[in-house]
Amino acid sequence: ALPEPNADFFGQLGELTDEQKDVQMAVRSFMQGTVAPIMNEYWSRDEFPKQIIPELRRLGLPRRVWNEDGTRKPDATVMEGLITLEACKVDVSTAVFFGVHTGLTFASIALGGSAQQKAEWLPRMLDLEVIGAFGLTEPEGGSQVSQGMRTTCRRDGDGWVLNGEKKWIGNSTFSDFTVIWARDVETQEVRGFIVRAGTPGYEVQKIQGKIALRIVENGQISLKDCRVPESDRLQEVRGWRTTAEILRLTRAGVAWQAVGCAAGAYELALGYAQTREQFGKPIGNFQLIQNHLVHMLGNVTTNLALCLRLSHMADAGTMRDEHAALAKVITAARCRETVALARETFGGNGILLENGVAKHFTDTEAIYSYEGTNEINTLVVGRAITGFSAFV
Ligand code: FAD
Repeated sequence: ALPEPNADFFGQLGELTDEQKDVQMAVRSFMQGTVAPIMNEYWSRDEFPKQIIPELRRLGLPRRVWNEDGTRKPDATVMEGLITLEACKVDVSTAVFFGVHTGLTFASIALGGSAQQKAEWLPRMLDLEVIGAFGLTEPEGGSQVSQGMRTTCRRDGDGWVLNGEKKWIGNSTFSDFTVIWARDVETQEVRGFIVRAGTPGYEVQKIQGKIALRIVENGQISLKDCRVPESDRLQEVRGWRTTAEILRLTRAGVAWQAVGCAAGAYELALGYAQTREQFGKPIGNFQLIQNHLVHMLGNVTTNLALCLRLSHMADAGTMRDEHAALAKVITAARCRETVALARETFGGNGILLENGVAKHFTDTEAIYSYEGTNEINTLVVGRAITGFSAFV
């Protein structure tokens, strides 16, 4: 019998705890049993399959990462990484849906909410009874949003009035609420608000025509004199510092997306090379194809090692911005190279949705550019190692 495709060549995941292995297997079986059979249909329709939410709820994954009071489990980042890895091997969009809700949005309330706000939202978020979204990026730009945020908030009596636009906001087309980041017109400070779906002045348009992550629904949000009560302003947000802390916490997860996406593409390519025959034998016999496969495996192996190390540092409290930034830069670049080689290994069949690898190929383009583009994360590392900031 031929060797089974296995992206964990060095057995790095063999050292997981029993609980971590159980979660990994539960996500694997959910992705293969529930998501894989329907994902191409939803990809074609540019739509998120909301019927998977009850099953995700039964898996109880957010409770493996967070406690109800908004503190993290001791191995939270490793656990999030494993969930992301297994999901992305099959479908990156599903991991993004989960990451936006359980990562960015949950962290906004966990880090920025009062005790009362945490009690109101976090338990229901952990059980996916309410779905959240995270609204930071604006049409005029994502990279500069810390300095050039145009969405404003103005105190008015017992509430606030929000005006502006947000772009690319994942899950926002059907979320129960979106955390909106806005600049105070008086103090210039960045503030966070829980804006509930249906609030007058808050409108969401689905972004159409994406070539990547088509199963995630991204919204363009318009805020026109949108009134939010003071009780829905995130009470513990300390300006941009809190937003940056949330982004730092979730950046490791994006690096893990790159690991999972590349691992899935590698396993598909190896399986194909073992069965597709040309010149009378499986193409895996040819040296050039073996070179592709070994290069892919090298990328996946080093990406996995880097992300495990990063996650252990995050859980130990020693990870800094530049560590997460370098991991995101390197894993995304290696993922891009890997999915291209996997696509190439499939020949013409590689561009057909039905063969799986095409979805990994295009999804990588989004991973490459969101949650800090390759360039911006590079500059974060550059600043840390040289002592000079190239941003301004
Ligand atoms: P820009 O900032 O306009 O950058 C354009 C180019 O210029 C990039 O190559 C960039 O690296 C480069 N550049 C900019 N400044 C510099 C500089 N100083 N030096 C060198 N190069 C520079 N945002 C949310 O808030 N919530 C979400 O849920 C969300 N989900 C997303 C999902 C998808 C599929 C995508 C594509 C994006 C999502 N985003 C979300 C937004 C994402 O984080 C931004 O796209 C990202 O931050 C980049 O911003 P931009 O697209 O405006 O690019």
